[in-house]
Amino acid sequence: MIDEYGQRAVTRCEILGKPPYSESSEYLFRPYLSQAYKQSQHLLVQWMHEAGMTTHIDPAGNLIGRYAGQTSDGPILVIGSHLDTVRNGGCFDGNLGIMLGIEVIDYFNRQQKRFSFGVDVIAFGDEEGSRFPVAMLTSKSVAGILNELPTGLKDKDGVTIEQAFEAFGLNYQDIQKARYDPQKVLAYFEAHIEQGPVLEAEGLPLGIVTGIASQYRFQVTLKGQACHSGTTSMALRKDAMAGAAEIIYKLEQCVDSCGQEGVVITTGQIVASPGAPNVIAGQVVFSIDLRAPTDAQRNEFAEKVNEIIEHICRKRQLRHELLIQHDLSASLCNQDLMSLLEQAVKKVGVPVRYITSGAGHDAMILAHLAPTAMLFIQSPNGISHSPDETVRCNDVTAALQTMIHFIELKEGKK
Ligand SMILES: [Zn+2]
Repeated sequence: MIDEYGQRAVTRCEILGKPPYSESSEYLFRPYLSQAYKQSQHLLVQWMHEAGMTTHIDPAGNLIGRYAGQTSDGPILVIGSHLDTVRNGGCFDGNLGIMLGIEVIDYFNRQQKRFSFGVDVIAFGDEEGSRFPVAMLTSKSVAGILNELPTGLKDKDGVTIEQAFEAFGLNYQDIQKARYDPQKVLAYFEAHIEQGPVLEAEGLPLGIVTGIASQYRFQVTLKGQACHSGTTSMALRKDAMAGAAEIIYKLEQCVDSCGQEGVVITTGQIVASPGAPNVIAGQVVFSIDLRAPTDAQRNEFAEKVNEIIEHICRKRQLRHELLIQHDLSASLCNQDLMSLLEQAVKKVGVPVRYITSGAGHDAMILAHLAPTAMLFIQSPNGISHSPDETVRCNDVTAALQTMIHFIELKEGKK
């Protein structure tokens, strides 16, 4: 019986992966406030009604399904994830969390079970920054942390966010009205695919998320001397490219040998100038993306990044600049909710595995509103943001069972 609910959640994600729920017929793309987005909301409204919920669109364009509690003035447990997708994305990222929310309500509704709290299932509109150069706009609205409206936002066709809101039947100026009253929100729960390879490598279906990683993004500029590649002897070079290569390699070694789980470092971008095969690079600009489970760990490694760069630059006679471009504190999940989730996972008979999320999620925004909990579902091959993204039905069913137990345990605790 529960398997059928799990299977249906998977099937529904697959349905939403194709037109008219995708803007393209060749790949999945569902940007915020698009036609495909609107069509998807219509279908979700139907599924939410069938599951016993009432529905409304909030001032940010999020779809909210409400399963009333025993009383109308009780607190609300919010379950959510995002409906938008990246271009050429997979159909489970975000969407699976919404589908599981609907399934869990359908399960309780069929037993006519109501709780001392209401349950809202939110399909967030903009998590990915799928249409406008802004991300998590809709969860920020719900969390009440959108103090200033981002202005001048245009999509790639030149449509402004104000125009997109109007075409959708909403007023952008009202977006802050999507805010929930923090006094009324009991907790926020999000189920999401892992989007990484850890759970699969350990043969585990589920992971209890401890928090969303602390992050620094640096831009490093190394300055040496551009010179002829044929006439400058190796000993007399100030080669910014070789310096960058040594730094990148040393940083990888440093993180790799530290033995601290969840600490990761990446250089994904590098530009050399003047950029010719026969010229020693006079300048190289590259990125460093550093993430760690806690701010303390991140800061410790940021120190090491500094030391390594300084040491190598001194040795190679290079000048350098280190700029912090992105500074994001860790968002920790709530301890009490994590232990409830642990009990729920044990009841399902699945091994307990705690895991840090290296990627951002709506949950980190909702943490400003309420205590949060997150459950990861194994991503086969670790693939996400790709049409090859997939899930296993048994894992999805295990997630659903965990959510059922979690809600029942939450009721018991209240
Ligand atoms: Zn996602």
